[in-house]
Amino acid sequence: MTDHPTGAHAPEDVHVDKEFSRCPGCGYEDGFHVSFAAQEDLRAEVILICPRCSKRYRAGWVATLA
Ligand SMILES: [Zn+2]
Repeated sequence: MTDHPTGAHAPEDVHVDKEFSRCPGCGYEDGFHVSFAAQEDLRAEVILICPRCSKRYRAGWVATLA
């Protein structure tokens, strides 16, 4: 496998109930930037990036690109 983030930039797994708009790392409360990490079969994992502290989170969401 390739292109999996590692080290300091590896996303932290989070569990989302209703809404995930507050960064657990720094307390920023106005939501996240979004990155799509391409997977196989035209799918992409959604990575949430805090605009303040740049911490990355993975909620287990997958987007279909087609
Ligand atoms: Zn943050």
